[in-house]
Amino acid sequence: TQPLLKTEGLEVHFPVRAGFFGQRRSTIKAVDGVDLTLALGETLGLVGESGSGKTTTGRAIMRLERPTGGRVVFDGRPVQDVSEREFRKFRRQFQIVFQDPYSSLDPRMTVRSIIAEPMVVAGVGDRASRVARVNELLSLVGLETSHGDRYPHALSGGQRQRVGIARALALNPQLLILDEPVSALDVSLQAQIVNLLKDIQQELGLAYLFISHDLSVVRQMCDRVAIIYLGRIVETGPLAEIFDNPSHPYTQALLSAVPIENPKQRGMSNRIVLRGDAASPSNPPSGCHFHPRCFRAEEICSKESPALRDLDGTDHSAACHFAGPKTVLPQA
Ligand code: SF4
Repeated sequence: TQPLLKTEGLEVHFPVRAGFFGQRRSTIKAVDGVDLTLALGETLGLVGESGSGKTTTGRAIMRLERPTGGRVVFDGRPVQDVSEREFRKFRRQFQIVFQDPYSSLDPRMTVRSIIAEPMVVAGVGDRASRVARVNELLSLVGLETSHGDRYPHALSGGQRQRVGIARALALNPQLLILDEPVSALDVSLQAQIVNLLKDIQQELGLAYLFISHDLSVVRQMCDRVAIIYLGRIVETGPLAEIFDNPSHPYTQALLSAVPIENPKQRGMSNRIVLRGDAASPSNPPSGCHFHPRCFRAEEICSKESPALRDLDGTDHSAACHFAGPKTVLPQA
């Protein structure tokens, strides 16, 4: 079946001026050739540290950031072929939920007007049908009708994120881009919102692109995972493959920091501590971008950039010269 969303070689490069007086021109390759696919009813986790390009990828899919290369194909149609005028209608099919429920809701608007706003802007329905739709959405996200008359400051963090989700659902989208939707919440609220998102997905059959730095939440939420480092996908595959048989050293390091009941089960008894911080995307290391931090790096790694390649025909791929179907996990 045709995927609902596809990115092919997606690039977002920003020109910047560097140097003390801004005399040097350089390019930040925030997203550097990203291929993703996502089907209806499926959740793909896009996982990386801050500055990895994960949020810019989501924004480029939404056309909030203009791609400088590659393309986004939604429901078989290249998004860049859609005219600005038509795009407003087209965009109804994919919506975004932001990380911070505190700043993404207008404090001067009631919850009811916040949720109705996308319908008002898109000119959908009359007043009575919008009122009915808002009540339906409040109930879908587990809020009372009476919450509709409140202002965001009178709601808890979890309730505000429910409002953000209801607003994103107002126009019946097929795809939700969830940009760190639970990272501003405490752990018990995180679980409630994750469960809510899963219930909504089951009921409406939506596709989710779940952007996160937190693999514990990704494990609860996703069907497939793509790990991004300095603008490039370094490993992608079904959730179980990524968690049980991580093949890229970066994925292994990220996973080694995730608390699990029995770490020996996955052959990783110790935490892998990476050297240094990620490099700047304006000046990425040569060859494999990860090589200055990699505990497995060899000479070839600083010279040749590894391509993302299929490991074992199970939709599991990694971009590492030494990744294979049964990568031996390091005992740090
Ligand atoms: Fe590490 Fe080399 Fe693999 Fe890059 S290619 S992840 S540096 S071993």
